Amino acid sequence: MLPGRLRVLVQLLARLPGVGEKTAQRYALYLASEGAALATDLGSELSSLRDRVRPCARCGNLAEVSPDAQPAAAETICSICADGRRDPTLLCVVFRVQDLLAVERSGAMRGRYFVLGRLLSPLDGVGPDELPTGRLVERIRTDSVTEVILATPPSVDGEATALLLAQELTPLGVRLSRIASGVPHGGDLEFSDQITLGRAISGRRHVEPR
Ligand SMILES: [Zn+2]
Repeated sequence: MLPGRLRVLVQLLARLPGVGEKTAQRYALYLASEGAALATDLGSELSSLRDRVRPCARCGNLAEVSPDAQPAAAETICSICADGRRDPTLLCVVFRVQDLLAVERSGAMRGRYFVLGRLLSPLDGVGPDELPTGRLVERIRTDSVTEVILATPPSVDGEATALLLAQELTPLGVRLSRIASGVPHGGDLEFSDQITLGRAISGRRHVEPR
């Protein structure tokens, strides 16, 4: 029923995470009718996205390419890696850029990051060789990192990845820690699942009387 071009647009939009066929159709119809100005803006942003935004060469976070950079020029560095006030000896290892942003929002991280991009997942064909362990080790050496926080998600794959990285990084003599995970703030113990609560108990901290 839809014109061919619009069907193509629906198919493209439906490939975005979290967008189903129906939502894609709603977006396409809007862009083709009252959202025409938005369609033009989106089009120009999207067509230059790959040239303007790239993964940071040091950490994998997304970074804006400076407008006057030569195409084959020096590596693209993100704002966190370029920030001299950050502690270069403290490195937080995360799975995805979304996780980096979440840790950043907490305001608790004064060091820098390393984005893995994938987790160990034998069932999906991701083995130890597919992890960027070599680049991580190189980063630790180059920046003289002394402490690494393994902030992979508290899932089966996230835990397996943290365990593997801990084994690989131990010989480097860095201080290794795993993020504590436990009961969510404002959460009720009664409704915590047993893995979460078990981890909250085993990751308990000593309480100092004031
Ligand atoms: Zn960076």
